Order: sequence, then structure tokens, then C-alpha cells
Amino acid sequence: MQLIVLGSGTSVFHPRRAAAGFWLETEAGSILLDCSADAPHRMAEENLDWRNLDAIWISHLHLDHCAGLAPFLFGIKWAPGIGDRKKPLRIFGCEGIGKLLKAIDDSHNYKLFDQNFAIEIHEFPPAEHKDGFDLLAGLTAEIISTPHRAESLAIRLTDQSGATLVCTSDTGFSEAVADFARDADLLILECSFYRDKPTRKHLELADAMRIAKLAEPKQLLLTHLYPEWDDIDLEAEARKLWTGVIIAAHDGLRLEVGA
Ligand SMILES: [Zn+2]
Ligand SMILES: [Zn+2]
Repeated sequence: MQLIVLGSGTSVFHPRRAAAGFWLETEAGSILLDCSADAPHRMAEENLDWRNLDAIWISHLHLDHCAGLAPFLFGIKWAPGIGDRKKPLRIFGCEGIGKLLKAIDDSHNYKLFDQNFAIEIHEFPPAEHKDGFDLLAGLTAEIISTPHRAESLAIRLTDQSGATLVCTSDTGFSEAVADFARDADLLILECSFYRDKPTRKHLELADAMRIAKLAEPKQLLLTHLYPEWDDIDLEAEARKLWTGVIIAAHDGLRLEVGA
């Protein structure tokens, strides 16, 4: 699998960090993990084949994770050559995605679902730990609720070679989430704040490193970085707390996952 960071930022606009979005290229197909308002443009900027995107995962309904979904459906509808697309676009994620899209669609009769390929929506209720299901043929997914929003979910993906990626998206500290992420080849972990976080529903550095210590991923990618990180060497600070492979996310970063 190859991961491309589209957005390492948050809901706060930032000159060098788009809001959440990760492109994952796998043997089974391409997946977009979270779709902020910035994500569609970032896919184009990275020259990714967004017209043939196979699946989208939406972790929760905060707009820095899902606001690009309706614009993506609106944009793909008018993309040159899209008439040749026959395969479905599969949208997976938390409860409420369908309701959100329908509300936008109805508000101006956008006909977002009136495409010449099928759009499937698969929503998952909050789950202590949902066992594997096929996100795409040959790509297994597991999910678990995170202490961030009632609907928020983390996802664990495993391909046929056994390579594993976990994306927590937004989360508070949770040993269950750490356990869920155990031994992943790549753990994409939010690290919203440096210290003195203003909410229990996100992580600060010490929380993130406690999760890393419990999960022991082969590579740790720290993301969802608020502007307070701009003047801090995140990797250096993180290495004081955990000795594994730590990477601070930046937009445009590409990482190989697994063997
Ligand atoms: Zn967020
Ligand atoms: Zn959030």
C-alpha cells in the first residue's frame, strides 16, 4: 500500500496544511480516508486518479473530515471522460453520511446521486470493535468507536499481503483504540495539541505517545496538527517519549506501508 497525505491540518485554515484527507493506493483499489473541503482539490494537485477512486471512508461528521464529499460528487459528475466509468463509488463510514448528503442534495436539487455509475453508502453504528468486512475485494476493514463524537470511528485496513494501516482520525485518549492499533505497519494518529489540550476529545503529544507505546506500530504518522505546532519540532519532542519510527505529517508526504 502507498499512502499520500492530502491534508495534515484541522478545521483551522493554514497556509501549508489542508484539512483531513489521505489517499491510499492498494492492490485492491484506491481509497480516500476522510474528505475535507480541501481534499478534492488536493487530489488533483497530487495528480491522483480521482475519477477512478474506488472508495471513501468518512470517520465522523465534523466538517474538516467530510465537507468535501458533496463537492466531490458534484465535481466527478462533470469530469471529462467520466461517462466511461462503470464501477461503483463505495462510501463507507459513520452514521449520518447519507442524511448529510441527502440534505445538501435536496437543498438545491443537485442530483448528486444521479450519476452514470452507482454510489453506494455503507454506514456503521458506533461499535466496540466490529470484525472484518471487505471494504474492497482483497482489503479487509475493522472499525472501533473513538472518544471524540458519538459517531466517530477509527479504521484498521489489512491487505492480502498482510500489510496493515490504522487511521484513528480524531480521538481522545483510549486504551481500546491503542489496542485496536496494535502492531500496525502504519498508525495514522491524531496529535492535535502539544500540551494543555483544551478538550478531552483530542490528543496532546503525551497522550499520542502513550498510545504509540501501547500499540507499537512499525511507523507512526502524527497528523491533525493545529497551528500551535508551527514553531515546535514535533518529531524531536515525540522521540523524547517513544523510541519507534515517528513521522510528522505534512501535505504531499508519500509513505510505503508494509513489505
Ligand atoms: Zn478534525
Ligand atoms: Zn472532529
